[in-house]
Amino acid sequence: MKVAILGYGKSGQTAKRLLEIKGVQAIEIFDDKMDGFEGIKDFNYAEFDTVVVSPGIDLTNLEIPIERITSELEIAFEFIKDRKIIGITGTNGKSTVTFLTSQILKNIGVNAEFCGNIGVTVGDTYLSKNPDVYVVEVSSFQLDLLKKFRFDTSAITNITPDHLDRYKSMDRYILSKSRIVEFTEGVSFLEKGDWNGIFMKYESVKYVDGKLKNYPLLNGNLLKFEDFHVDIDRYKLFGFHNIVNLSFALLLTDQIFRLKGDVTKLVENLTPLEHRCEFVTEINGVRYINDSKGTNVDSTLTALKSSSYPTTLILGGKDKDGDFTALADEINRKAKLVICCGAAGEKIYNALKDIIKVEIVRVDLLKDAISLAYRETKEGTVLFSPACASFDEFNNFEERGRFFKNYVNNLKVNGC
Ligand code: ADP
Repeated sequence: MKVAILGYGKSGQTAKRLLEIKGVQAIEIFDDKMDGFEGIKDFNYAEFDTVVVSPGIDLTNLEIPIERITSELEIAFEFIKDRKIIGITGTNGKSTVTFLTSQILKNIGVNAEFCGNIGVTVGDTYLSKNPDVYVVEVSSFQLDLLKKFRFDTSAITNITPDHLDRYKSMDRYILSKSRIVEFTEGVSFLEKGDWNGIFMKYESVKYVDGKLKNYPLLNGNLLKFEDFHVDIDRYKLFGFHNIVNLSFALLLTDQIFRLKGDVTKLVENLTPLEHRCEFVTEINGVRYINDSKGTNVDSTLTALKSSSYPTTLILGGKDKDGDFTALADEINRKAKLVICCGAAGEKIYNALKDIIKVEIVRVDLLKDAISLAYRETKEGTVLFSPACASFDEFNNFEERGRFFKNYVNNLKVNGC
């Protein structure tokens, strides 16, 4: 069998390791970064029985027959079929729900690990730990490549506009997300929203109320489900959206290990992930929050809702076709100053300047935005939630978040 690996990032490298274990010898690698390869448009699938496609690659113009396509997730599944697998997708909150679910399962004593789009591939998790339960974050691009995979239970945290540069329409994006339900044997949880219609045909879907007024119900400090409840005062993550994320994590856990009565002790020690509404430090009474993972308009809206007036909001980076006007109302409620930077700075500035009542300024780079925020903010919060990808100035959102934290901590010590 002759196999091509198209895209040699994390998933391609794992796929190669797994294929070698399976005894496949004829493996060829194609990656834009390799000398002599002109780019995927020149890739000729005809020479290969199977093509392992990286989720980052847009197959639209390649016309590879579907039966020849596979992916790291599909190959890994052959190795982990006998394990419990939880799948989590959604526009925002995927990594947080994935991380929380694995932490809760561990608190119960279950041998669980998080993996997938969150950082460590499923295949590498199999090779290094092979846990009893795989908690897998799945992107829509990964879902598009599934053929035989099976989740025992799954969640779609929410669906708001994202990646429209690749999907072209919201309906196509929602359809891609809905594939997780098709590949789930048991219950799938979905936040109620405009997208419900597309899911009507699936009886296995249970709806979660994003406002927590019905199911689950947040009543004072008590978050109530059918058979169990949690004292939310003992849960430390920042913002209302993180209570919704906790709800998903508990519901998924409940599908694997039935929860009963007061389960507060399972949530007391839960920690957030880096770069998601992460508290950095306080300087002269001003709180600095790093939300570098806020890479689309909706996640920034969520972060802003969790903040209070007066907030200095730093936006900008590489635009993903975002509609920045959607931020206007919440900016008017929470912000005192908006600073736009990076490649999308001008677009954001033009989209907002005439429709918000708050001062808005444009600077070139993120460092300029942080310095300005530091000079101009005398009270409240500086929230870095860019609503854009990081690739204009950085390699990824982690690098951008670390830059923000280092720069702020440096200002704390040395001043401007
Ligand atoms: P993802 O993995 O889907 O990108 P993360 O868990 O990394 O999501 O969170 C990214 C950002 O999305 C957070 O910093 C926060 O601003 C926002 N966010 C997190 N959870 C939710 C949610 N349930 N609903 C809306 N926005 C959220």
